[in-house]
Amino acid sequence: MENELFKQMSDYIDSRAGWMKERRQDFHKHAEAGWHEVRTCSIVADHLVKLGYDKAPCRILMGRECMAAEERMGLPDQEELDFIYQRALDEGAIMPYAEKFKDGFTGIVAILETGKPGPIIGLRQDMDALGVVESQDPAHRPAKEGFASIHPGEMHACGHDGHTTIGMVVAETLMKFKDQLCGTVKIVFQPAEEGVRGAKSIAYSGVLDDVKYMIGVHMGPRRGQDYDIGFGYDTNMANAKWDVYLTGKACHAASPENGNNAMLAMAALVQGIYGIPRASYGNTAINVGVVEAGSGRNVVCDRVKIVMELRGYTQAALDYIEPYARRIVEHAAAMHGCTAEIKVMGATPCYPIDDPAFVDELCALSKKLGFKTRDPQAGTNSEDYTYMAQRVMERGGKSCFFRCLSDYPAPGHAVNYDIQEKDLPHGAQFFCAAVTYLMGLTK
Ligand SMILES: [Zn+2]
Repeated sequence: MENELFKQMSDYIDSRAGWMKERRQDFHKHAEAGWHEVRTCSIVADHLVKLGYDKAPCRILMGRECMAAEERMGLPDQEELDFIYQRALDEGAIMPYAEKFKDGFTGIVAILETGKPGPIIGLRQDMDALGVVESQDPAHRPAKEGFASIHPGEMHACGHDGHTTIGMVVAETLMKFKDQLCGTVKIVFQPAEEGVRGAKSIAYSGVLDDVKYMIGVHMGPRRGQDYDIGFGYDTNMANAKWDVYLTGKACHAASPENGNNAMLAMAALVQGIYGIPRASYGNTAINVGVVEAGSGRNVVCDRVKIVMELRGYTQAALDYIEPYARRIVEHAAAMHGCTAEIKVMGATPCYPIDDPAFVDELCALSKKLGFKTRDPQAGTNSEDYTYMAQRVMERGGKSCFFRCLSDYPAPGHAVNYDIQEKDLPHGAQFFCAAVTYLMGLTK
């Protein structure tokens, strides 16, 4: 019977819907923001070991084994890393795996080797929560049903709890049907997507360098339409996310000539950054989102922290404003006798995250196999999956980023965001459809 293997896998995933619901709600309750995902990773690792991924020729790469340490961006300080490690252990992180993910090494890659010739396929899901305080309003389902985040200021408000769950069931399904598959599948569980900080460390570790087909997933809103799977032709905006520290010298406000006023440097900096003249390289967006400054009414301010970002709709546009902004930071500080330090907290290049012909091919497959499929639309995106797509496409491979659609009661990143667990199996089923198709086993 045609596509019998895919049908069996699809039925198996349906049978795991109850488990997926519980798994997602547990991740939701124990939301871990970027570089905090120790508990999440340990649960994924334990699942993979129980499935047999640790037995040769299959492999599990944990933490340092699949991450380039120096490419991690926007890491929390050691005190915070120590705190969240202990918290993860207190909340049931699984040993001995938890140790592998300590100190900001919260990435994991499962490698399925079938032992038969075939393509090398990469599948990516991200695991981190956002810096959002979740709503406790009883109208918010997670609050009503008792699985709202127990970590104030950390919330799965972008559906990555769903992505992690999808990845775990894909790993399970592929292993269950391994004898009927061919080639290699690398299932990537990525940290710190929010703030575009984590993907680069995995892409630059080299683990994806031999991947021929790379596929990423994200939840997406159904917007009242009857679709389960969606596609796009997306190009990632070029991003630079900075924390700027200005240092001056404090003194009594009655004799300000004895100090160097970092507050004035900050004011000049903010005005200057927004005043960068437009150029013909493409649209840009600038935001200074947070300023923390000063210690008292009668004290000249000596320390300022500025949280800001720069975006270009083309790479040339960012390449124009980024050095311009750097000059403004340095000179605004120097103008008032202060010094400036820029810490890059996140960055992505402007790069297409999909190969349009490959998207069309997988979209046609999705329709043929009976998924309710939304056609691709062109758009801009901010996804650090870009680093993985770029790494694979620059080596002659192909990339597609699809959406697992669900009903959203509120937009992504809102305090009352939620997804419907009944939609998660569709994401896992499409991954398995694409994998078996690329192996030549589904038509
Ligand atoms: Zn997201």
